[in-house]
Order: sequence, then C-alpha cells, then structure tokens
Amino acid sequence: MSDKIWLSSPHMGGNELRYIHEAFENNWVAPLGPNVNGFETDLENFLDSDVKVAALSAGTAALHLALIECGVTYGDEVICQSMTFSASANPIAYQGAIPVFVDSEKETWNMCPIALKEALIDRLRKGKKPKAIIVVHLYGMPAKMDQILAVADEFDIPLIEDAAEALGSSYKGKHCGTFGRFGVLSFNGNKIITTSGGGALVCHTEEDKEKIVFLSTQARDNAPHYQHSHIGFNYRMSNICAGIGRGQMEVLDTRIEARRAMKRFYMELFSGISGVNVLTEPNQDFYSNHWLTAITIDSAKANVSREDLRLALLEDNIESRPLWKPMHLQPVFANTPYYGENIAEELFNDGLCLPSGSNLIDTDKYRIRNKIENVFAK
Ligand SMILES: *Cc1c(COP(=O)(O)O)cnc(C)c1O
Repeated sequence: MSDKIWLSSPHMGGNELRYIHEAFENNWVAPLGPNVNGFETDLENFLDSDVKVAALSAGTAALHLALIECGVTYGDEVICQSMTFSASANPIAYQGAIPVFVDSEKETWNMCPIALKEALIDRLRKGKKPKAIIVVHLYGMPAKMDQILAVADEFDIPLIEDAAEALGSSYKGKHCGTFGRFGVLSFNGNKIITTSGGGALVCHTEEDKEKIVFLSTQARDNAPHYQHSHIGFNYRMSNICAGIGRGQMEVLDTRIEARRAMKRFYMELFSGISGVNVLTEPNQDFYSNHWLTAITIDSAKANVSREDLRLALLEDNIESRPLWKPMHLQPVFANTPYYGENIAEELFNDGLCLPSGSNLIDTDKYRIRNKIENVFAK
C-alpha cells in the first residue's frame, strides 16, 4: 500500500525545537513564559490591526471564554452558523445556553445574512433576544462580513468570529478574526499552523485580554492567599506549545501560499471535468487561506457521486472528508431552532474536502491527479 496522503497534517518549519529547547534551558515548563508572550506578540503583529491576543489551550476554550465575556449564561440563546465543526457550537451548551442555528449562503458556504436577520426577527418576536452571534469562516473562506456585521449592529448583538480555520484569510484587506467583538483562532494539529494543540482569543482592548488571561488561569484575586470571586478555568497555553507556535509563525506566510497553490492545483485539475465546483472567492473582497480545498459534485452531471470519489481515493490510501454535517442535523442538537432553506444540507450531501496540506509533494499530487482523472473518466 502506498503511503497515506492526509487531508491536512502538521508541517514544521524548523525552528520550533529551538524555542522548546530555550524553554527547557530556562525551566519555563509551565502555562506561562517568554514563548507565550512572544507567540501572542507574533500573532498581534501578523493580524496588524491593533488587536490584543490571549494564547489559550484550544480554540474551543477561546470560544467558551468569548461567550462568557458576552454574558451568555443558563437559558440564553446564541445564534450559530449551522454548517461548521461541532466545536463552534459546543461551548454554547457548556454555558447551559441554547443554540439557534442559521443556514449558509451558496457563495462562501458561511452564514447567510438574510437567514440571520429572519432568525433574529423571529427570536425577538418569541420574546428572547440572542446574546451573541457566532459566524464561521469555513475552510478559510471569509464570511460576507459587511452584511453580517450590518445585521449584528442593527440588532445590537455582539459578533464572535470563529476564525479557527482562517488564520491568514482576509475580507476587504482586514484579517478574519479581527472584525467581531472577539475572534477565535485554533492551532490544532490539522490547522494551517499548529502548536500540537492550542488556540487564541483575539480581543480589541488590553482590558479584555487581561480578563481572558485572568479567567483562563483559575481567576485568582489579587491576594497573597488563594481567593476567588469568579469561576475560573485552566485554559492558558503552555510555554512548550507556544514554542512550537513561535517557530510556526516564522513560516506562516509560506504555509498560506502553499495551501493556495493546492487550491490552484485542484482548479486546474477540475477545469476539464463537468459537474464539479471548487469553493472559490466570490470576488476580490475575499482572500481565503484555502486551509482545505473543498468541492461539490453534481452527480447527475458528473456521473460520479461524492461517495464514489471519497471511496475511490480511500482505496489508494488518500484521505478526503465530507463537508461538516450541519449542526441542526446532529442528533445531539435535535429539536434546536433552525432558520434557513437547507443550503447547508445540500452542500453536505454533495461536498468533499480534498488533501490540502502545505507539505504535499509532487508525487502526492501526481497520485491524487491520477486517481481523480480515473474516477471521472469512467
Ligand atoms: C478546529 C476548529 C475549532 C476548535 O478548535 P480547537 O483548537 O480544536 O479546540 C472550532 N471551530 C472550527 C470551525 C474549527 O475548525
């Protein structure tokens, strides 16, 4: 069997171990230290819009703290994009709050601003104003931020951006993760850069960042003994993981370029195949890091279904993955409110994510190309 080609696997730059060695030499083996501060500064410089970044143990933790800071508590409602990974929605449940799921639009596959507005009008009519809106930049594609922000502003509800998949993506020249009240980043093993596991919350004031760091380090009051006036969390990033992050930040630009090149590779490959649509920026306002290249297949036109292609690739030890199953269709979220026209459901039925790692080499691409051309030639 040939070597496995992964959807997206870690890709070290080279200097990660140097930062880790430094941490060992100085005995900074803790969830604080120079790598944590350095990684935060690197991210702030990269995002270049006056933001303050708090490095945390996971993107999921970042989202949880963002909800807490937006005042979300038991029984509240939170609007969330339905088409996403479960980690976007789970922290709503951690707070004992109720998710209200909103459909996607066809161009970016992200939250539909029209469905969002319908949802808000109906929730208000039913007597409850949602406490926050979670919008996701899926597979690196920026959501339609002007329209989404306009609705959030009109209803005066804070926006949380789940930019876990979109570090390096931008909308009208502004980085994803810097538009909302808070922005969530993830450095899990399969993301565009990794700290093995980790995340960050993008804040807009030093005050917000300090509060997030306080909550993520067990919420200790300023006293010599251990005194607590808030419920705290153990959510801070380790100085070892942050060392990996510092090494990864040195190569982030080349990682983005490599992922975008993978997307161009697939565009070219599918240009001669009818019935296949590659997720692409709708216009110049959108700049995607193309974390994963994703396609939809019109099986009537292509004579090949999503499952045909997925299983054929698997035969050759090539990993691919259906698009995220919408949250309103998940057993765990059965009976939660949903607004939309089942666009997310259609995308889920026809969509597939293809190997997109920045570390794929020419022989990998050759195998992928051969297999795909073969499947569609039948
Ligand atoms: C990866 C991911 C998360 C969670 O981040 P972790 O660091 O794995 O906790 C949240 N939302 C989306 C859309 C993701 O892809």
